[in-house]
Amino acid sequence: MNPLPWTREMENEMTSLLELADNLSYTAIAERMSAKYEMEISKNACIGKARRMGIPQRNGKPHKPTGRPRKDLMVRIKVDAPIAPKIRRNQGPGVTLQQLDQNRECHWPLAAVEDKPPYVYCGKPAIDGGSWCHDHAKKAFSKVRA
Ligand SMILES: [Zn+2]
Repeated sequence: MNPLPWTREMENEMTSLLELADNLSYTAIAERMSAKYEMEISKNACIGKARRMGIPQRNGKPHKPTGRPRKDLMVRIKVDAPIAPKIRRNQGPGVTLQQLDQNRECHWPLAAVEDKPPYVYCGKPAIDGGSWCHDHAKKAFSKVRA
């Protein structure tokens, strides 16, 4: 249903009906308004309009302003999840020290000394009892020999 096209004249008419006839109910006002302006004006339409115009309620209390957010109804959401990069394994060469299985994986550092952390290590399966994988063990021993 479309809102009623309230004109200034209609507002004034309703205001005077409310002021002049104290005992006139909104139902009666709606009937008079409907008859005068030859349109269907419901009781609720009159009440709603009176409220929007700030006309005091019948018991003398002014209408409280509405539409303002109530702070007590607001919900405060606290977000304090730590923001940490997701470290995924098997992505790119090497693993970090934290990811390295020190007993079974190659400790060969892949990063250069001047690199910034996180330093990465080979991480391939270490050969029996050693600290390095097959390839790095060969490298290590050839260095020693050289
Ligand atoms: Zn290795």
